[in-house]
Amino acid sequence: MDIHVPEARVPVLRDCDVLVCGGGTAGVAAAVSAARHGAEVVLIERWPRVGGMMTCALVTIWHRSDREKIVINGLVEEATQRALAEGWGVAYPSVEGRHETHNFDPEGMTLVLHRMLDEAGVRVLCYTVAGEPIVEDERIHGVLVETKRGRRAITARIVIDATGDGDIAAKAGVPFEVGREADGRVQGMTMMYRLCGLDHAALDALTPDRREAISAQMRAAIERGELPPSKTASPCGYRNRTIPNMCPVAGDPLDEEELTRLTVLGRERVFRFVRWWREHVPGFEAAQVEQTGFSLGIRESRRITGRKTLTAEMVLGAAKQPDAIGHGIWMIDIHDPRGSGYTTWQDRGDTNMVARGDSYHIPLGMCLNAAIPNLAVVGRCASSTHEGHSSVRVQTHCMVMGQGVGTCAAMALAGGTEMARVPAADLQRRLRADGVYLEDVPADG
Ligand SMILES: Cc1cc2nc3c(=O)[nH]c(=O)nc-3n(C[C@H](O)[C@H](O)[C@H](O)COP(=O)(O)OP(=O)(O)OC[C@H]3O[C@@H](n4cnc5c(N)ncnc54)[C@H](O)[C@@H]3O)c2cc1C
Repeated sequence: MDIHVPEARVPVLRDCDVLVCGGGTAGVAAAVSAARHGAEVVLIERWPRVGGMMTCALVTIWHRSDREKIVINGLVEEATQRALAEGWGVAYPSVEGRHETHNFDPEGMTLVLHRMLDEAGVRVLCYTVAGEPIVEDERIHGVLVETKRGRRAITARIVIDATGDGDIAAKAGVPFEVGREADGRVQGMTMMYRLCGLDHAALDALTPDRREAISAQMRAAIERGELPPSKTASPCGYRNRTIPNMCPVAGDPLDEEELTRLTVLGRERVFRFVRWWREHVPGFEAAQVEQTGFSLGIRESRRITGRKTLTAEMVLGAAKQPDAIGHGIWMIDIHDPRGSGYTTWQDRGDTNMVARGDSYHIPLGMCLNAAIPNLAVVGRCASSTHEGHSSVRVQTHCMVMGQGVGTCAAMALAGGTEMARVPAADLQRRLRADGVYLEDVPADG
């Protein structure tokens, strides 16, 4: 059944050069970069804080290294250094042999990201959901938002969709894909959480044999269905405030009712594990769940079809692109769309990785589309196959897209042109000047 909504005159709440919809890591990077390059920027975010999955789903690890050196810098490096200086992050002892370089406190990182936005002069409206895009003559003119005072419009010359789900691009009619080719299922989701109340002395006193016995007991309990599905079979190495990634659920993140059910289920599972550990693991007797994700952790939903589409072959072949805006290093890392906790990374190891010491290029074209020239997407909704997405979805890569597109948007406005017409070499020069690592760009770039 449909109902008719009469046409209405809608007051303009804000007018700006660049409107960024969604304040996850990608959106923050896009907004800060566009503003630093002279654009008037408004960022709208439906939740009470920016950071998206990082701050609201407790995803706190950044991957920046090609396993020999750090190849993701720019705003990622700036946010990292600010967080470290304030004591909200730790660097892993060495990048040698691993992609992970830093771990952050999600609360501290929230402050860092908000400060970066404020200092850049971005007007941030939290508690604001981007609704219908205003599209006319194949251009986007802004979006409608519902406020406590009624419907309002935010108008802009360029809109950047950083909603993670590609809400604005999809509603504007840009084609998109969801999930894997075979059945449309997206990667499994996960409820992240933090623990406290652990007795570290008791945990440290566990002998290797005792630890192995606990793992075996836990695996058996998972197999019997007494514990929820999980690939992780031991909590013995946990510390207070540890954020485990071990409670997978599967379903459709674009269906609100199902998402609500899965969020509740994910939280239930966290508490089931903790109850079991209290009974079976010395040191866990007084364990508490300090915090669960404000949101379920969502890895994948819509992927908006762009001028270029990142594929597994490009990732694993470390493909270089003339329109590169930065580098990507992460592996093909698909969490089972049926929610078993299985990941291709754990099970296929090195065969799913970019060669050590090498990296692929993240092209601007995966963020632009052929339908609406003044609309870009950044972050996990950018153009990729299900497999390519499983690599480029990580936060540092999302920030590379944000910085590249935000800078490009400001340059396009200053030059009176479209984003796709900004010369790649000019954009790359600007990005390098801003600290972005960009090497091996093919000559025609
Ligand atoms: C459990 C889990 C573990 C992961 N592990 C890692 C890891 O170890 N390292 C890593 O780097 N990455 C990891 N990832 C991936 C990574 O966290 C995400 O892919 C990345 O954070 C996506 O960033 P984004 O800015 O594109 O989207 P999001 O972080 O999803 O941000 C989108 C933002 O837009 C807002 N929004 C959405 N719709 C609207 C709307 N209509 N109006 C206004 N605002 C809106 C949302 O509230 C949100 O703040 C993990 C993901 C999950 C779920």
